[in-house]
Amino acid sequence: MKRARGEREVSVAIHKYYSVTEEGTLKRERQTCPRCGTGVFLANHKNRHSCGKCGYAEFKKTKKE
Ligand SMILES: [Zn+2]
Repeated sequence: MKRARGEREVSVAIHKYYSVTEEGTLKRERQTCPRCGTGVFLANHKNRHSCGKCGYAEFKKTKKE
């Protein structure tokens, strides 16, 4: 049985957005855009997340220690 081309690349792309935490739960690395919906991830910036598609930006809560 032959594997479809591109199958591997798809799974690699998914691994980029998800990671397993120490507790063994799946953690989403990237936030999805509330405007564009599932599948559109927000770009991770130093102090904010932003959508390259619609321009939506979400500012991160600054943690003061
Ligand atoms: Zn968007």
